Amino acid sequence: MPDQPHKSTTKTYRLSEIRCDDFTIAGYSVAGEESVICIGELDVVFDIGRAPRDCLAINHVLLTHGHMDHSAGIAYYFSQRDFQGIKGGTALVPAALVRPLKDLMSAWARVEGHPSPHNFVGMVHGQDYEIRRNLVARAFDTRHVGPTLGYSVIDVRQKLHEQYLGLSGPEIVALKKKGVEITRRLEVPLVSYMGDTARSNYSELPHVRDSKVLLIECTFFEDDHLRRARLGKHLHVTDLPEVLEGMRNEKVVLTHVTRRTFMAEARHKLKQVLKKEQLEKVVFLMGKKQVEED
Ligand SMILES: [Zn+2]
Repeated sequence: MPDQPHKSTTKTYRLSEIRCDDFTIAGYSVAGEESVICIGELDVVFDIGRAPRDCLAINHVLLTHGHMDHSAGIAYYFSQRDFQGIKGGTALVPAALVRPLKDLMSAWARVEGHPSPHNFVGMVHGQDYEIRRNLVARAFDTRHVGPTLGYSVIDVRQKLHEQYLGLSGPEIVALKKKGVEITRRLEVPLVSYMGDTARSNYSELPHVRDSKVLLIECTFFEDDHLRRARLGKHLHVTDLPEVLEGMRNEKVVLTHVTRRTFMAEARHKLKQVLKKEQLEKVVFLMGKKQVEED
């Protein structure tokens, strides 16, 4: 009898969707297997996983680090866009990864027999990149293995100073002409993604602390997995109360759960460690296969 393929390989997966006020998060994130999180309305995909079809038309990849489960699809992303005639496409990546990623693209060009247009932008902590008018991605340091960054996507608005609120259009124009600073910059952080990370005081970063949605990894849940978490620089469920302390996010989405733990068990552990008001904000970004296992 021919070998039967493993059950999970016969299924094509769907991305799980989480609806937020202004956008929908569509992703798949399982530790060691694949992490990719698309937000079409913001034109960003956090990590690229194995480049599922859903992410190809999105113009900005925000890559947190080079581990294969987060980065494997990067060459395929650029190649498929070229093949489908989708212009542009930019990957923001930790600055130290620009060179090796370019090398990877030239190796693929030799393998395929033609180059795929690509654009890598090296990012460092605190650097902003304009996604489009009034929308920026800001990189921040995270604590994982090798060069790693997290990203916040921030809505940037210009607000009229209080004292000028009642003025007419021509009056405002007149002030502007005089060089008076009539507006102030207002930042509304929409979503922050850490990729893989060990414990750190992220509440010290206002754009992460105040993000409407926080995408945070929680790889391990079982008591005897704490050592694994420390070794691999990941979060264990018992780290969450400390990491979420001082955070003001409306929604917290847990990513990167290990396959070693069943979802029902993960939920149970979460209930044990989090306060009720924290628990109400937390949801899992699950892969379809995990949902089936639950
Ligand atoms: Zn990693």
